[in-house]
Amino acid sequence: MEGIKTKGVIKCPCCRKGKIVAYEDAAGKSSIQCSKCHTFLLVDYDKMTAEPTLREKEVYKMVVNE
Ligand SMILES: [Zn+2]
Repeated sequence: MEGIKTKGVIKCPCCRKGKIVAYEDAAGKSSIQCSKCHTFLLVDYDKMTAEPTLREKEVYKMVVNE
């Protein structure tokens, strides 16, 4: 992973164990599933925050079931 710069690490707000690495050019928002507690998180790379998002989980279910 040499040569890849990061803005920092966002911790999962639910379990505080999962970590989301924000790379240097990351911007905007993205839906990510925590690798530890499997909660779907809405990550804001500009604010460097994450919050649980149930709606995204429901959307994901719908997509997978089809
Ligand atoms: Zn988590």
